[in-house]
Amino acid sequence: MSDTPAPEKHEFKAEVAAVLKLVTHSLYTNREIFLRELISNASDAIDKARYTALVDTSLEGQELEPSVRLSADPERGVLVIEDNGIGMTPDEARANLGTIAHSGTLAFLEQAAKAQADGKSPDVQLIGQFGVGFYSAFMVADRVDVFTRSALPGSEGVHWSSTGDGSFTIAPSDKAGRGTRIEVHLKEDAKEYLDHYRLENIVKRYSNFVMYPVQFAVKKEDQDEPEWTQLNEIGAFWTQNASELNDEDYKEFYKHVMGGFVLPGDEPLGRMHLSMDAPIQFHAVLFIPGRRPADLFNEESKHVQLFARRVMVMENCDKLLPTYLRFMRGVVDSEDLPLNVSREMLQENKNLSAIRRQLTRKTLRLLSDTAKEDRERYEKVFENFGVFLKEGLHLDAGHKDELTELLRFGSTGHEAKWVSLREYVDTMPEGQQAIYYITGRSQEELRGSPHLEALRDRGYAVIMMTDAVDEWVVQDLAEYDGKKLISVTAGDLNLDGSTGDEEKKDDSDDKDDGLAAELAPLLERATELLADRVSAVRVSRRLTSSASCLVDDAGGMGRNMERILQAAGREVSSRPRVLELNGGHSFVKAACALVQSGDDAARADAYIELLHDQAHLSEGEVPDPKGTVARIQSMLDALVEK
Ligand code: ADP
Repeated sequence: MSDTPAPEKHEFKAEVAAVLKLVTHSLYTNREIFLRELISNASDAIDKARYTALVDTSLEGQELEPSVRLSADPERGVLVIEDNGIGMTPDEARANLGTIAHSGTLAFLEQAAKAQADGKSPDVQLIGQFGVGFYSAFMVADRVDVFTRSALPGSEGVHWSSTGDGSFTIAPSDKAGRGTRIEVHLKEDAKEYLDHYRLENIVKRYSNFVMYPVQFAVKKEDQDEPEWTQLNEIGAFWTQNASELNDEDYKEFYKHVMGGFVLPGDEPLGRMHLSMDAPIQFHAVLFIPGRRPADLFNEESKHVQLFARRVMVMENCDKLLPTYLRFMRGVVDSEDLPLNVSREMLQENKNLSAIRRQLTRKTLRLLSDTAKEDRERYEKVFENFGVFLKEGLHLDAGHKDELTELLRFGSTGHEAKWVSLREYVDTMPEGQQAIYYITGRSQEELRGSPHLEALRDRGYAVIMMTDAVDEWVVQDLAEYDGKKLISVTAGDLNLDGSTGDEEKKDDSDDKDDGLAAELAPLLERATELLADRVSAVRVSRRLTSSASCLVDDAGGMGRNMERILQAAGREVSSRPRVLELNGGHSFVKAACALVQSGDDAARADAYIELLHDQAHLSEGEVPDPKGTVARIQSMLDALVEK
């Protein structure tokens, strides 16, 4: 190429330059992952070529057998990675290898480099996830040459070159055939990456399930042409017979599905491998992940990969499972889907809907089997993904029963950390008619709630709901196994299983009527005094040791729901609640006597205010801190003066 024009020099974008600096100078641990990154790019490029060929028949090189080829040139100290994928036009090379597509990369790398400087081991494995894949070559190279030619007809070859120091050059290249050839000029201390067995080991570790053969050139002395040996297993993992695969195989495949990043302890919590022939043919390998992926609440969140006839057609297909099962990860491959499918078409595709129905059913079965077989493992599943199952309860009426059985809650009456509604009902003492629950911010706070007292005395367990979505769960559920779900903070609680709105009378009602008559002067004065803060004052059926508590009006929005909506920035004005007083409590009796005597009206009012303060305090709220402190102080002063 004697008359080729001089290479054009380009500066890297600032962020790339900074990333490169960190990659080349600061990050040394686990350098071998550069190979996985380059092989994965090569495999993506072949995917793209195959996919594009479906809609563009003019694409060059359609007759080629896909392959990724590695070869070592010990004399020049160069490792070559060559693919016959889609390649790049000069413009694409300039754009793709001069910028960084993913935001957050630099910040992540800076953190990693700092961790390393502090003697900690950074998660350098995560580099691929942040899209510095290609640049990771500079961990082992002091120069990288890329020779590439796009498969689009009439494309020119291009030579991209950089020493990773802030700029790169672009020049024409006479590269023959479509695809990309990357020459990695290994640093002095990275010559190990020329070794056949070292490379084979890395490929097996990271790239075993790549869809295309990854070959290595072995040159025999008596032969001119190298012989290509295959380093990976290839073949679609999911088409294998499940009975011939073991736990290790699945663990490896899981790693592959997660992009190679599985930290110890994050192994999958469950898996299923389906191979269906009728009515729709498909294979699926799906996992319940070992931890909640960070991006689950993000629209772009990765879902299940969709293949049609072993060609990946969608990396992130959200139509294979209902949204509430978006935490599942894995692969689905079907013979019965068109290859050139778009997201819009998928929506209408009958076969896909059939696959989705099957996968939904099987996933719920997998979850319920896990719950039956291994309580501890299911608890982990629930802690990670329970919130999604609750979302499902709201969205998927068709699977309401299965989803209800999968729910777990804390309970005041059970030793176990989590109980199912089934367990709760099966262990209800005789006479208990309903399922009682309380909602709030934390189990700790709820356990101290005065609302639980009468239930505790009767030996009734109370389900503690501390997740914001639980407020919706109880609305969706309303009852279970013929038993109503009743909030212990709502309405006039009758422990025979009904709320006070239903006109029901029993012995305890007569007793209450008696107490109400006894306390009438106190109730009357308190109603007057607190008129703008509570909706009513009455004698409580639920308190046995505390003096007072606040109760949600029957039918009204619960205080916890108000709190959740307020936290979400919604304007919700707190509705006044009912103040309940414990007629058996000595302080309440004393307050009543004081009101009745008419001796010291100011003091009697202070007592009433204190009963109201206490009810708030037991819920962790102090609506009037200054007043509360003043009232407590004056009581203490009175004690000291005595
Ligand atoms: P990512 O692969 O995460 O997008 P990379 O830095 O590894 O990030 O690569 C940047 C881009 O360069 C890729 O998105 C792709 O468009 C292009 N590219 C890299 N390697 C190849 C290749 N072997 N063939 C074709 N294009 C490639």
